[in-house]
Amino acid sequence: MNQITVISPDTAEKADVASNTRKVFIKTYGCQMNVYDSNRMSDALASEGYVPTEEMGEADLILLNTCHIREKAADKVYSALGRLRDMKRTRAEHGRELMIGVTGCVAQAEGEEILRRAPAVDVVVGPQTYHRLPQALTRARQGERVVETDYAVEDKFDHLPKVDKARARARGVTSFLTVQEGCDKFCTFCVVPYTRGSEVSRSVSQIVDEALRLVDSGVREITLLGQNVNAWRGESPKGGEWVLGELLYRLAEIPGLARLRYTTSHPRDMDDCLIEAHRDLRVLMPYLHLPVQAGSDRILKAMNRRHTGAEYLRLIERIRSARPDIAMSGDFIVGFPGETDQDFEDTLKIVEDVKYASAYSFKYSTRPGTPGAELGSQVDEAVKTERLERLQALLLRQQKEFAEACVGKTIDLLLEKPGRMPGQLIGRSPWLQSVNVDAKESQIGDIIQVRIIATGPNSLFAERAGS
Ligand code: SAM
Ligand code: SF4
Repeated sequence: MNQITVISPDTAEKADVASNTRKVFIKTYGCQMNVYDSNRMSDALASEGYVPTEEMGEADLILLNTCHIREKAADKVYSALGRLRDMKRTRAEHGRELMIGVTGCVAQAEGEEILRRAPAVDVVVGPQTYHRLPQALTRARQGERVVETDYAVEDKFDHLPKVDKARARARGVTSFLTVQEGCDKFCTFCVVPYTRGSEVSRSVSQIVDEALRLVDSGVREITLLGQNVNAWRGESPKGGEWVLGELLYRLAEIPGLARLRYTTSHPRDMDDCLIEAHRDLRVLMPYLHLPVQAGSDRILKAMNRRHTGAEYLRLIERIRSARPDIAMSGDFIVGFPGETDQDFEDTLKIVEDVKYASAYSFKYSTRPGTPGAELGSQVDEAVKTERLERLQALLLRQQKEFAEACVGKTIDLLLEKPGRMPGQLIGRSPWLQSVNVDAKESQIGDIIQVRIIATGPNSLFAERAGS
């Protein structure tokens, strides 16, 4: 769930903007969960009269919804805040207000420190408290500099407005839906258990209700999100406990919902029910993001991943026998403290064994407060760079091989948005690849059959099947 930098897209709502309406610009760093949170913040601010804008220059409120997963992410936020300070000063000289807020995981981790380092910031609101953003802005307008990073006792989702159908429609035919937050796994490299807190699952009724609203507004594909999504647990409507697989069976019954996905999963929480859901549910797309992080058992143990490389491979075998066409994706970290050349070779070996359709890979980044930061034997930066290049070359080769194997196949394509060329749309394959095809804009939201005819650097090209 990485490497996305998105500027909040709710453009369609700009239409009926009254000239005195306040505008909010949200810059989203990090993972899909932050994209979801930005949309929900935008919804919460709508009731305060804010409309979203994609032009930072015209905003009355700028929010940086931040990510703290790697070191550079926080650095980027501080340098963005430096630029915003200048913008706020220029605005003040012209007698116009500009409010600045920091939300998300950097807000949670740094709290008051942000106010100290960035005097232009008015509000700092953590990921568990963003339902309190409107009140925080009111207090800031009265002259207070607000930090809201306590874990809220009340359920954030109970206090947020329900997903607005017109806004959901404007965002497109695919949607994220957060079902679980936080993590209890405590991998030794990771800040998530500290910034997002311990695992909390949303209830079945909240999730089903939100999914129904999304589908009702025209959404065809829903991706369930969680830091550790397959640790989701909920009370079954008939009593007893449901696991994620059971939730998927329930959501698959929603008429009009054509596709389901979920991310990100931990190998230890891939239970039989979830694997059976992949076997049974046609709406559950044959794509699974299942990070292994490293191939060496010694490093996996030091990372506290709680499984071995062989166990991971056996798990993938079981998943593939349930759903043979499933595409595997993963995350990798190179240069965890103490990683030797042999350990790194073990990572390459597991990649060779699995054959990934796509993957994300990173150099280990020391996170203060995590056990990994206390370990000696940190790996030299140049060694990390060299290992990352080798790993990425292998992963890229596998991604290309997977894409090339699609050429000639007839597949279902969910048409999502206009393409770069006139008369072209971009859709998603079941395996999450972008596919370009000639089609009319009125067909957005349709699932059509296409034949893949060629591969490009980041996408595939297709023609209508039968043409
Ligand atoms: N919960 C997911 C899991 O268990 O795989 C991943 C969540 S994390 C937000 C996304 C990815 O960031 C991780 O899978 C890992 O590869 C990477 N990551 C986390 N901490 C990191 C660190 N300190 N340095 C480099 N990469 C890191
Ligand atoms: Fe971080 Fe590990 Fe939890 Fe994933 S499972 S969020 S990597 S602690």
